[in-house]
Amino acid sequence: MKLQLFSFTCAECGSVFTAFDTPEDGYGDFLVRSHVAASEARLLALIDPVYAEVRSLIAANPRTAPKKAGLQAHALQQIYGEVACDPDRQGHAFGLDVQPICPQCASQRMASWEPVAPVQTLDKDVPPITYRRWMGLSLSQKQQAVDEALRHHGWSSSSGVMLP
Ligand SMILES: [Zn+2]
Repeated sequence: MKLQLFSFTCAECGSVFTAFDTPEDGYGDFLVRSHVAASEARLLALIDPVYAEVRSLIAANPRTAPKKAGLQAHALQQIYGEVACDPDRQGHAFGLDVQPICPQCASQRMASWEPVAPVQTLDKDVPPITYRRWMGLSLSQKQQAVDEALRHHGWSSSSGVMLP
């Protein structure tokens, strides 16, 4: 897959480093990383059936069904990796919003990032994201997994709680 070089600024220690990531023009072709280990996998979001399935489960869940499309997309970004994707070989969950590892302090919390100019790209062989665990679940188990993940991220089904 095609990747693009970005400059990251670590939120913990402030150091600046470069890493390859999803290109700015990589429409629907995402690099997905795991927590802690930053293992890499590829998600072709426009044609991936599980990605679409999690999105529709979020659209049907009482916690998120009343929310606008933008908020449902935010929920999808929050829970897709941990709910549907197999963890990496060390058991760490993947996530769509997981950043690279700071070479100075090992944090994955970034203050900011921007494309390196001039643009630098890399054609890298990245394994596809897999769903063996998710494929073994029944529909009700999938609904329950999505509901628990949404609850864990603070999505309340009551109307009294304000969400981002
Ligand atoms: Zn750092």
